[in-house]
Amino acid sequence: MSTIFSKIVSGDIPAYKVAESNDFLAFLDINPLAKGHVLVIPKRETDYIFDIDDDHYMALWVFAKIVAQGIKAVIPCARVGVSVIGLEVAHAHIHLVPIKAISDLNF
Ligand code: 5GP
Repeated sequence: MSTIFSKIVSGDIPAYKVAESNDFLAFLDINPLAKGHVLVIPKRETDYIFDIDDDHYMALWVFAKIVAQGIKAVIPCARVGVSVIGLEVAHAHIHLVPIKAISDLNF
C-alpha cells in the first residue's frame, strides 16, 4: 500500500530532503520532536522494516548512521536519538532526533 512517504520519494508532495542515494532518502519530519528531526526511509515501498532483505537492511542503517553524523555536525546536541516507531505511516522508517536534553523534546 502506498503511503505519503512514497509520494515524497516520487516528488508528488514536497519534503525538505537532507540526503539521498539510489535506495534511500532522508528528509525533515513535518512535525519534529526537536529541531533537525530527520526520517530515513528506503525508497522502495516496504511496510515493515524487518521485511527488508538483509543487504538493504544493513545498508539502510549505514546510510542512517552517515545522516546522523551529518546532523550532529550541524546541530549542537549531545547525541542523535534513534527510533523505529511506525504508528502513523506504514512505510519503514528510522527517526533521527537531535537530543540536547530530554526536556527539549516536543512530546
Ligand atoms: P511513525 O509512523 O513512526 O509513528 O511517525 C511517522 C512520522 O512521519 C511522524 O513523526 C510524522 O510527523 C511524519 N510525517 C507524517 N506525514 C509526513 C509528511 O507528509 N511529511 C513529512 N516530512 N513527515 C511526515
